[in-house]
Amino acid sequence: MALMTGKQYRESLHDGREVYIDGEKVKNITEHPSFKPIIDVKARMYDMAFEEKYRAALTTTLAEGEVVSRAYKAPETKEDLTAIRKHVETVLDDLGGVVYRVGDETIGEMWSLFDAQDKLNEIDPTYAKNMKYHIDRVAREDLFHVSANTDPKGDRSKLFSGRDGGTLLHVVEENDKGIVVKGAKFETAAAYAHQAFVKPTILDWNAGSEKMAPFACGFICDMGSPGLKHICRTSLGADRNPNDYPIATKFEEIDTLLIFDNVLIPWENVLFHRSLESAAYIRSTLHRYSAFNYTLRMLRRADYLIGAALLNVEQTGLTHLQAVKEKISQLINYREGINAHLTAAVAEAERSPGGLMMPNQSLLYTGRVFALANFPAMAHLTRELVGGQLAVTPDTATMVDSEIKPYVDQYYSVGDWTPEDRGKLLYFARDLLNSSYAGHRTTFELFAQSPPFAQQMAVYNNFDMEPQRELVRRAAGINIPESTIRSS
Ligand SMILES: Cc1cc2nc3c(=O)[nH]c(=O)nc-3n(C[C@H](O)[C@H](O)[C@H](O)COP(=O)(O)OP(=O)(O)OC[C@H]3O[C@@H](n4cnc5c(N)ncnc54)[C@H](O)[C@@H]3O)c2cc1C
Repeated sequence: MALMTGKQYRESLHDGREVYIDGEKVKNITEHPSFKPIIDVKARMYDMAFEEKYRAALTTTLAEGEVVSRAYKAPETKEDLTAIRKHVETVLDDLGGVVYRVGDETIGEMWSLFDAQDKLNEIDPTYAKNMKYHIDRVAREDLFHVSANTDPKGDRSKLFSGRDGGTLLHVVEENDKGIVVKGAKFETAAAYAHQAFVKPTILDWNAGSEKMAPFACGFICDMGSPGLKHICRTSLGADRNPNDYPIATKFEEIDTLLIFDNVLIPWENVLFHRSLESAAYIRSTLHRYSAFNYTLRMLRRADYLIGAALLNVEQTGLTHLQAVKEKISQLINYREGINAHLTAAVAEAERSPGGLMMPNQSLLYTGRVFALANFPAMAHLTRELVGGQLAVTPDTATMVDSEIKPYVDQYYSVGDWTPEDRGKLLYFARDLLNSSYAGHRTTFELFAQSPPFAQQMAVYNNFDMEPQRELVRRAAGINIPESTIRSS
């Protein structure tokens, strides 16, 4: 069977990878306090697939009879897209929280490449062959596959020239074994994943010149490759008490600055090389599938906002106030707005150029923008409904102190709500809205599937504008030929 167990996943991370955090070289990543919680979450996801109650939602059987993760089967029908949604919801239900970069949200980028197989074949048939091999391999070996797009850019005038031949990741050598690459990428979860699809960052590759060719490469990189260094940012949950920070201590996904110090990429892992056309293509279609899984997480985040707000106003007896109901309604509008986009994106799904079934692109990308653009306002509304206790409640160690407890019992008991339960709700809401982790999460959501301007470009490029243009042309009786309007 192709499915990996949690134990096998943990063992697979002991592959000699070089991981650094807080000035320390990590010796045992699976037991390190900064990584253990999220590795345990991913291990739990692996184990879930073996449980009878989850088998139908989390696995599928290939034509040859092999059982693989549902997350890794490319969608061919609308039912497949519904199954992907079910997969994400089932995992998040079991975990009791939201994790983004756990494999299913990044594999879709490979399916976008699958859609370009004719183009890849024109450039070099081995690239299309490699791409299919890797899509198949992720499923059959149940690999944790992540995504590396963004270079630390700094001075834009030095991207393609200067010291070391340019800031952006590029090929420094070709030999009989493969290509040798140098550069750096930001990548969430890299330190505890198996492999990444590394590709060029957002740039106008279409307008590129020959000097950009060494930078126009895409490949699969093993996260334990010699020469690869994972330089991780500090965990926002590791030194916290789980009772006070119930989300950060469990679901903190560590981001990595990944250094490629002359890393050899074997030819079978090269998906394209010296191809500006491929770079431009992958940038314009990257989130064709993965934005669906991403936006599903935003939907779940909206559910947590509603739940936190509702329980808080219910415990304090404020639900009957019309002004409070209106604010809850705003949260519901937000939640259902995301839900409507996702549901319609499946109902109106489109056949992709490669023959897969892709969520309706216009509805998906507008849904992603809707979810992201409105999240800060919705979080603020939830903050308002929860009230100032979100920010001033003492932590659990103080609340249970024998001298303090009588005061806590007096001031934190409300109806059937014990001080313990009120505390739990307030700590949860704090970690959802106010903690360092909550702030980081908002920034992650803003950027992790490209910055807002690029997301708006995806909306612009995937909306069929012709009906609106024609509507006004006809209604206003405009005679100028359509082609003239478009080219002006
Ligand atoms: C928490 C976190 C996790 C991340 N995880 C990953 C990951 O797993 N994999 C990965 O590849 N990347 C990851 N990233 C990186 C992310 O994709 C980038 O931050 C994002 O693409 C923006 O790139 P940048 O940070 O270099 O900003 P820049 O490109 O410097 O842009 C900064 C801002 O300048 C403006 N700007 C820049 N260029 C333009 C333009 N052409 N038109 C209009 N405005 C412009 C915009 O306001 C933009 O937001 C992560 C980022 C964060 C914050």
